[in-house]
Formats: sequence, C-alpha cells, structure tokens
Amino acid sequence: MKLDLPFDAIRRSEEVEALVMDGNRRLYYRFRSSGHYGGVVTADSVGCNLLCAYCWNYRRNLNPVQGDLCSPAEVVSKLGREATRKGIRNFRISGAEPILGKQSARHPAEVLLAFPGRFIVETNGIMLGYNPDLLDLLLPHSPYIRLTIKGDSPERFQEITGADGAAFHYQTNAARELRRRGGAYGIAAMTGAVDSRALGRIFPDEEIEWEEFGNFGNAEQNLRERGVRLERM
Ligand code: SF4
Repeated sequence: MKLDLPFDAIRRSEEVEALVMDGNRRLYYRFRSSGHYGGVVTADSVGCNLLCAYCWNYRRNLNPVQGDLCSPAEVVSKLGREATRKGIRNFRISGAEPILGKQSARHPAEVLLAFPGRFIVETNGIMLGYNPDLLDLLLPHSPYIRLTIKGDSPERFQEITGADGAAFHYQTNAARELRRRGGAYGIAAMTGAVDSRALGRIFPDEEIEWEEFGNFGNAEQNLRERGVRLERM
C-alpha cells in the first residue's frame, strides 16, 4: 500500500477499515497468549490508521491485507480455547488499531460482550477522539482502555506516526471523552519518544505507563529511515 507522509489519519482509517473488514469479520493473523499484564490471551490483527516509526508490526500495517477474516463469534471461540488451555482470564487485541470506524468498532464490541470487565482495548484513540460516540459501543462491556499517546506536540506526533500533526488533538480528545463518560482507561507512551514533563502537562490527572522500546520487526531500521530519534525524556 503506497503511503505518502504526512497522511490524513481519518482518511487512512476509512481506507484501512475497508481493507481489513468484510461485514462483521476482521482480518487476524494469530491467536496466542503472552505475559503482558500478568498473562493475557491475545488476538493479533492487522491494519492501523497510523504508521509509527517504532511499530513492531510496521510491515504488516503497511500492507494489511493478510491473515484470515474472523467473525466476532470465531474470535471469542479462539480466545476462549486459548484461555482454557493456559488458565488465563484476561484478553486483548494487539498488532493493529482495533477502532478504525463504526464497522470495526462494532466487531470488538461483540467480542467484549463475551468477556465483560476482562478485556483490554489497546488503542491510539484517533477515531475515539474524532467520533466519541463510538465509545457507546465499547463502554457498556466495561473494558479497560489503554490509550497509547504518540507525541507531546502535534509536530512530534507527525514525526512519529507519519500522520498529519493536526490529528494529535484526537488523541487528547479521546482521553477527555473517556474521563467525561466514566470509562476505565490509562495513558501509555514509549520511553524516549515523548518528553515526560510535556506529557505530564497534557495529562496532569492521569498516571502514565511507560513502555520500553524493543527492536522488534526492524524497528531500529525503520526509525533510522524515517529520521526519528528516541531520546526525549
Ligand atoms: S498505533 Fe500501534 S499498531 Fe498503529 S502504527 Fe502505531 S504502534 Fe503500530
């Protein structure tokens, strides 16, 4: 998929959603369990509205048409089987942005229905900030929303994500809307990618979870090629 930088994150959401969704089915390439959050069963999907220079799934998110289309019922069944096999009670979707628009938001909402209060939604929040009513599909099932913030300014957001910096305010709006609607959420950011004091000023009331950089999926090479340095502390 050809992508000129910077791109419009909302238009890319629509384009990618059209590629990774078919009716209520979404593309997934793997179901597994991992040690994150003390043990979590994970459905790995494809397709994102951003292209972070350090993304561990960079190649797949650049060319997202891969894997198998799964209905919400199939996802629930695969996650449930792995949970029983491993004795794990928590769940998440990873590898991609789960919320690209209404069609893709309805899909995890149906999955959440099977695991109330036990699902972690990892999201960059772009579409939740753009159309906060999408939260009405998710919040009734009591997920924990982990909002990963990609900059401490529009300029840094653009550098990291490849998307026009104007979309940074959708991330901050997603946090504002989550707070206003009483959703369970937390802010996460990558060490070195954003200035911790600047982020603290943007989110004065939230505790920030810091993620360590890992060189997965050629991340160091992608950072070099994109000219992005991880050093802002
Ligand atoms: S938001 Fe997440 S999945 Fe999307 S490009 Fe960035 S790191 Fe990758």
